[in-house]
Amino acid sequence: MNASASAPPAIVVLGPSALAAARRIRAACPGAAIHGLRARVGHEADVTGYARLNEHLQTLYAQRVPIVALCAAGIVIRCVAPLLADKGVEPPVLAVAEDGSAVVPLLGGLAGVNALARQVALALGVAPAITTSGELRFGTCLLNPPDGYVLADLDRGKHFVSDLLAGEPARIDGDAPWLDGARIARHPDARLTIRVTPLATRARRDELVIHPRCVLACVPDAGAIDAATIRAALSAEGVAPDALAALLAPAARMTDAALEATARALGVALRFADGMPAALRMLAASTDPRYEIRTHDSGVALAIAAAPVDAARIGRGRGRLSVVGLGPGSAGLIAPDARAALDDATDIVGYATYVKMAGPFRADQRVHGTDNRAELQRARHAFELACEGRRVVVVSSGDPGVFAMAAAVFEALDASGDARWQAVDLRIVPGISAAMATAAKAGAPLGHDFCMLSLSDNLKPWPVIEQRLRHAAEADLVIALYNPISRARPWQLERALAIVRQWRASGTRVVLGRDVGRPDEALNATTLGALRAAQVDMRTMVIIGSSATRGVAGGPHGEWIYTPRWYEA
Ligand code: SAH
Repeated sequence: MNASASAPPAIVVLGPSALAAARRIRAACPGAAIHGLRARVGHEADVTGYARLNEHLQTLYAQRVPIVALCAAGIVIRCVAPLLADKGVEPPVLAVAEDGSAVVPLLGGLAGVNALARQVALALGVAPAITTSGELRFGTCLLNPPDGYVLADLDRGKHFVSDLLAGEPARIDGDAPWLDGARIARHPDARLTIRVTPLATRARRDELVIHPRCVLACVPDAGAIDAATIRAALSAEGVAPDALAALLAPAARMTDAALEATARALGVALRFADGMPAALRMLAASTDPRYEIRTHDSGVALAIAAAPVDAARIGRGRGRLSVVGLGPGSAGLIAPDARAALDDATDIVGYATYVKMAGPFRADQRVHGTDNRAELQRARHAFELACEGRRVVVVSSGDPGVFAMAAAVFEALDASGDARWQAVDLRIVPGISAAMATAAKAGAPLGHDFCMLSLSDNLKPWPVIEQRLRHAAEADLVIALYNPISRARPWQLERALAIVRQWRASGTRVVLGRDVGRPDEALNATTLGALRAAQVDMRTMVIIGSSATRGVAGGPHGEWIYTPRWYEA
């Protein structure tokens, strides 16, 4: 329920007048990013751009990202109003006056909006406009315990709080350090009890039960462990399922997909140590907090600590390496999965230009920019980082699998044979390749059979390139040329064109897309006969049409270029 309480908020601004306050708020919220209306503040280096406020706020809300919006409360309310039906899942939503003079919590009382409001107000030197009665009276939201604790039953909790608000005293049974400063009348014999326990209790109306997440389920070396097995082990010991903090498994099970599914089904982290006895020894040896170990028939051992355990500090997580395509350059052409991987990354590895394109990144994300040619070295570095349990993203332009980093990552993996590398959770996230982006600008030149060729002879012999060009030209395929020319390879393009001209008429349509999707985008249509190497550089995509590729009047460039789907031999 309070999953979003400590997630970093999105600080949303509409214009430059809100930036000063936004930056002060960001400084007080680790991991927070400023999101700005692209048309007004998109050029600011530390601002992530969005196109439309209501769409953006709705997306953030749906993803349960805490929102701090520096604009009128009414605007925020209207934007998220269509999504307000389900109170249980709302994230904290806060309106802040653009000059930082007022902080108004709007939604997400159970997700920590008041705590966030206090944090933001403190940073701005003002008092937050708290309106929740329990919060005002007790100085804390009893229904939203801090990280590491879970409220057992929200509905009972609401009754409990109304009884408490009616003036009855309460007693605390268990350890609730966050309530030390709360303004709750206490009495040792009070009827109302706040019970903090990992044990499953049958909550009574006069009890507020809160479970500390203080239990680790240690999974044995072998054997299928599903969610039901874990629940059975918890139930045998009388432990509440909500008290489970993490599964701890032997490192040899890192690639066990079923185990991963079990952790996901239980909603807890999956952590690893080097072997089960070692894992238990590790827990038993840690004296603060002290663990009590109980082994169940299934081989699952429960380690119950005296206080919540921070799963991130137990053993290590399975590292992840995502090779991500950024598309041609504009934010709108990045796949949502790629954006999500970037947002989730602890480390971003890539050629400096692409890393810049993928940013800006949060202060807690490590950026490793490198030279464009050091691909294998970059891939190895990424694996090593992932082996430490980090979530690494390697960025490529366009699609990572097209003349880019994905193949380099597999080459590195193939050559190493390192079992740790093989255990890394490796994912390839596709992107829109330069040929597709250029084709879309021009019309549909790839509408019939086509091929993609790289003219770079850095990693393949030039005679092979010539032979492929001959075959492609003879087959009358549309040809998309990547890496057409560079300072180190000045003559190859003219040579390639000469080969294609042997098979194809000089009137054959050619499309040149330069920096497609980037600020300096240029699109040119020409013919095979008129094309000169001087019109092309390494940021250009060259699409040479087939005998069927043709033009039709219209479009932003006066003529659309397309290749019909039919073909006459
Ligand atoms: N993985 C990339 C290709 C990398 S090879 C992709 O799928 O797009 C680099 C070549 O791609 C460049 O030499 C150029 O020919 C082409 N290219 C990459 N981005 C481009 C862009 N925005 N506009 C035009 N061509 C581009």
